[in-house]
Amino acid sequence: MSTPEQLLDNLATFDHHDPLNEKEQAVLEQARKVFMDKLGVPCSACRYCCDTCPAGLDIPMLIRGYNEQNTSGELWRLGSALTAAGNAADCIGCGLCAKKCPQKINIPEVMRSIRDLH
Ligand code: SF4
Ligand code: SF4
Repeated sequence: MSTPEQLLDNLATFDHHDPLNEKEQAVLEQARKVFMDKLGVPCSACRYCCDTCPAGLDIPMLIRGYNEQNTSGELWRLGSALTAAGNAADCIGCGLCAKKCPQKINIPEVMRSIRDLH
């Protein structure tokens, strides 16, 4: 969270605490495993990282393209949207984005992986 609005949004999410039962937790864990196996990078596209990037990269869009490639086997299916997202090779590895990421994604490492695809 990086703004008061995001804090309030997250607090509202937990306003009515209703925990999952064991069966629901098992289903959730199974879904998490499928997500991790299939997509690789669990970006939720929250965009908390975006404003921090000195290279102006659209990090979630680049990750989406990376995941699309991992699942489809096709290079950069998102075409022009990815071109607009910037070039992962411009990442300077400052790590500012990773500090904002609620999923604790090692974004500089992902950017290096994307860069190495070319
Ligand atoms: S590590 Fe790379 S992607 Fe992350 S904020 Fe710095 S330049 Fe942008
Ligand atoms: S902060 Fe993390 S989860 Fe959110 S868009 Fe950026 S990389 Fe994805």
